[in-house]
Amino acid sequence: MAIDYAQLARIHGLLQQRDELRSRLARIPKLIKDVENKRLTVAKARDAIKEALTSAKKSWHEKELTLKQRADRVENFKLKRNTCETNREYQILNDQIAADVTANSVLADEILETLERIEQLEQDVKQAEANVIAADRECQQGIEQLKQKEATVQSELAAVEGELRAAERILIGDVGSVYRRMVETRGAGALAETDGETCGECHQVLTIQTKNELWQQHTIFCKGCGSLMYIPPADLAKK
Ligand SMILES: [Zn+2]
Repeated sequence: MAIDYAQLARIHGLLQQRDELRSRLARIPKLIKDVENKRLTVAKARDAIKEALTSAKKSWHEKELTLKQRADRVENFKLKRNTCETNREYQILNDQIAADVTANSVLADEILETLERIEQLEQDVKQAEANVIAADRECQQGIEQLKQKEATVQSELAAVEGELRAAERILIGDVGSVYRRMVETRGAGALAETDGETCGECHQVLTIQTKNELWQQHTIFCKGCGSLMYIPPADLAKK
């Protein structure tokens, strides 16, 4: 049975376009997710800085409290020292005072460092908040663009599917059934262009009989992969 190879070539081209458009559509949810993840990463970075700030402030308050308690203790030791009855007692109190004073001097330095760190973190939080605002905007724009792209691809796809349905009308009866089953699972792989020597899909070498039938534009399914084969119209014209 003969079939119009120019029309098969056209169907093949439309199937390839449809496969390409479908895979572009399929990628869009992942692209949207990527855009959202980028925004989440920026928001998480901001949260981490805020947490660091909270814990730096907590540490500062704790250090201030320790400093105060130790200073109070030093004052108490000094009072006790005035009422000492032995040199040994006096010496012990003196040592305790000296130890607390040294510890508090170290602690005072640490408090200064903590305050510097808090100041830096407060600036970082401001910057991070600005980053989140920018990332929110980018995310929104990115998703909008992707949705627009999705709509464009969907309408292109609808157009291609319309043309395809019209072109596929030549595939009737058993040939049509076999073709439609294959298209379901293989998409454009249901058809194979051939140079008249090998199948363009699976590269199986064709028999002389198959070659002859191909040049007469018969309906031929490849014995290797099952594809419906055709010789491109430009090659047919050269013959
Ligand atoms: Zn094949």
